Amino acid sequence: MKTDILIIGAGISGAVLAERYASIGKKVLILEKRNHIGGNCFDFVDDNGILVSKYGAHLFHTQEEDVWKYVNRFGDWYDWEHKVIAKVDGQLVPIPVNITTVNKIFDLDLSTQQEMKDWLEKNRSAIEDPQNGKEAVLDKVGPVLYEKMFRHYTKKQWDKFPEELDASVLNRIPVRTNFDDRYFSDKYQALPKGGYTKIFENILSHPNIHVELNTDYFDVKDKINGYEKLFYTGPIDRFFEFKYSLEEKLEYRSINFVSETVDKDFYQENSVVNYPGMEVDFTRIIEYKHFGDQKADKTTIVKEYTVDTGEPYYPVPNEKNRAIYNKYKEEAEALVDIYFVGRLANYKYFNMDQAFKNALDLFKSLEGKPKRKRITRYEKTGIQKV
Ligand code: UDP
Repeated sequence: MKTDILIIGAGISGAVLAERYASIGKKVLILEKRNHIGGNCFDFVDDNGILVSKYGAHLFHTQEEDVWKYVNRFGDWYDWEHKVIAKVDGQLVPIPVNITTVNKIFDLDLSTQQEMKDWLEKNRSAIEDPQNGKEAVLDKVGPVLYEKMFRHYTKKQWDKFPEELDASVLNRIPVRTNFDDRYFSDKYQALPKGGYTKIFENILSHPNIHVELNTDYFDVKDKINGYEKLFYTGPIDRFFEFKYSLEEKLEYRSINFVSETVDKDFYQENSVVNYPGMEVDFTRIIEYKHFGDQKADKTTIVKEYTVDTGEPYYPVPNEKNRAIYNKYKEEAEALVDIYFVGRLANYKYFNMDQAFKNALDLFKSLEGKPKRKRITRYEKTGIQKV
């Protein structure tokens, strides 16, 4: 096997780098362990005729103009402002917490931003510079909502309580002092018409790109006899053959997706319903038929159970894992012409747009044209202005 650019993994990072390198005339070989492209964005039409995601719902949202422009080159997108509702005390309430959430849970009748701000001021436990997920939530919404909406959901999701995680994990969820019930507030929020897999097919459709599916890099690496650069997008510890001891193993969370067909038009009123309580052990139910207003006789629902073994989906952001990751990072940085890109290789909880952005930026930093040195009039003419 010989190529200019070798890429391990056909998810967002791998696909973007492949496309960028192909566009400057490089031959690119992608090795993908799974039997499909698209990484965890992979979607397909299931037996009920519904477009579903194999690895959980993927909601695209970004503030980055360059990322938005880039993804639009590979397919049409429709506006989708994602909403999530959570089942709390038997009622469905919006998450992120907004005025409606507080009104429903506490049986109140707040109606203005000022009333909501006053309520939060009275109920939150102000904490200067929150150091972990628990402090972050207490600081924003106080102990009652923490208990009802965040504590157990987080335990189910991470097998850790919020105090065992970085504040950044829980800070992904804002608090709203109005009635805005969108999950994200980014300028661009959209889903690809016809699904993500098509977008990946288009990104990878270039004569210079060759994708080998069902090929684990670690099984074939001795047969590879040359490349200019290697981009690795898998788990960083696997690249170094899990060099550090088991006690200091990097943690990942995986999800067990349990799919069911329901012989009804719709099962639930929204695409995603979270279950933050202890009454069930799944975290959420996704009903894919809601995305893009799909038509089918039946509906498909998927319950998500987060587990610690299986495909690695989420890095677990906390101090312990950061310290282990930093050791691998040091090893990675010492390698020449090998780059670690994406959620698993950088051990970072990236959103999709951040994955696009990092891959685009990495390409630019490696291959961007060197800035032309400005030639002064003196250098040009030899005449110095006085
Ligand atoms: N979270 C929670 N309750 C919810 C939703 C989220 O406690 O109803 C917490 C939980 O710790 C979760 C984190 O907020 O892991 C981030 O949620 P997000 O929806 O961003 O997670 P993802 O969609 O990436 O799984």
